[in-house]
Amino acid sequence: RRKKRQKEQMELPKAVQTIIHLLERNGYEAYAVGGCVRDLFLHRAPKDWDVTTSAPPEAVKGIFHRTVDTGIKHGTVTVLMGGEGYEVTTYRIDGVYSDFRHPEDVHFTTALEEDLKRRDFTINAMAYDGEGRVVDLFGGRKDLQDGVIRAVGVAEERFTEDALRILRAFRFSAELGFTIEEKTLAAAGKLAGNLRFISRERVREELTKLLVSPHPDRIRDLYRIGAINDIYPAYPEEDGPLLAALNALPPDPVLRYAALFYYGADRQEERAALAEQVITELRFDNATKNRVVKLLALSDTAPSAEPYAVRCILSRAGEALFPLLVQLLQAVSKKENPVFDEMLREGEAIIQRGECISVSQLKINGTELLSLGTAPGKAVGETLKKLLEEVLKAPEKNEKETLAALVSAWNKTE
Ligand code: ATP
Ligand code: MG
Repeated sequence: RRKKRQKEQMELPKAVQTIIHLLERNGYEAYAVGGCVRDLFLHRAPKDWDVTTSAPPEAVKGIFHRTVDTGIKHGTVTVLMGGEGYEVTTYRIDGVYSDFRHPEDVHFTTALEEDLKRRDFTINAMAYDGEGRVVDLFGGRKDLQDGVIRAVGVAEERFTEDALRILRAFRFSAELGFTIEEKTLAAAGKLAGNLRFISRERVREELTKLLVSPHPDRIRDLYRIGAINDIYPAYPEEDGPLLAALNALPPDPVLRYAALFYYGADRQEERAALAEQVITELRFDNATKNRVVKLLALSDTAPSAEPYAVRCILSRAGEALFPLLVQLLQAVSKKENPVFDEMLREGEAIIQRGECISVSQLKINGTELLSLGTAPGKAVGETLKKLLEEVLKAPEKNEKETLAALVSAWNKTE
């Protein structure tokens, strides 16, 4: 029975099986390859499925009806099937092996080997045909069992070819809880300086994956080898509190980056400026950037579950960011404290009751202020803000007549 279960777990999705079968029927070799094979062995759900094949891109396009030229120059064609895309990439070898028409030809064994050799780590360099045949030329399965990240071939050469692999080593170690094999680690330390040649976007992607992994505290290892010191010079000397906060937070990139920057400076204004600078440099999307910066700008907020205090915090953070702010404050607070859970509950209750926490929820608008005699221009916005202050203190004042009376009184005294 055990055998049967194992076979089930090593089953490729129907679409991937179909792709492999069709390629084989047309006389080519084809395998699932790389991260998806690793994840199959680990019983993890792969993020994407990659197929490697001896078929040249033109042949792949001829065999499948719906394809996209994703990276045709690099031999990658995306095959669309059942609403999903699957990247099918031709074995990457040089021109000498460009006769792809004879699948039995020994060149193809060599070609697959060449394709696997160019991959970064042994655990990422396995191929699987979906029917029990695993091609594992570098001991990937053993390293998976032992929990080891090991470069394929000579680590120094591989990191010299592409320094991003250094970050990937630490990212996989954090995602999988693996240790980095000694020579691989030594080579990473030796060549970490080359990371300055890698595009910020690629660095960001790896750093983010490391931070949202089950072991975000492995960022410490990156810092130790000098991999991120240029990118984030404010990393704290005493990093225990940071690592504890990272581990305590849920795996949300906004929260984990916020924790990283929290310990980069002493005051919320400095933290926000630091976050803005680093995150801009890493070419983050604006939505993420704004959220992280805003959290840090509020990161000195005193925790309180008192309704008025919570309304003020909700108003400043906004409904969407409020729970994240509370989680951040909790993660960086040194003591256990029930106040954070109470804050979250009070925040929910305030929203449930529909109490006003933003200018847009006021029961009066700018046009109405004008008819009450407020001067057009800046005064309108300022008056709305003053009204919000009143309503935050006393939610029951959010009635059109009450607000209008306040405004009339203010306009009279001016
Ligand atoms: P993830 O689960 O994050 O997708 P992955 O291992 O699938 O991890 P990808 O970036 O999707 O990583 O790459 C797919 C495969 O391509 C890898 O498993 C590896 O075999 C190879 N690969 C990717 N990037 C590199 C690189 N920089 N150097 C060498 N091989 C690489
Ligand atoms: Mg992948």
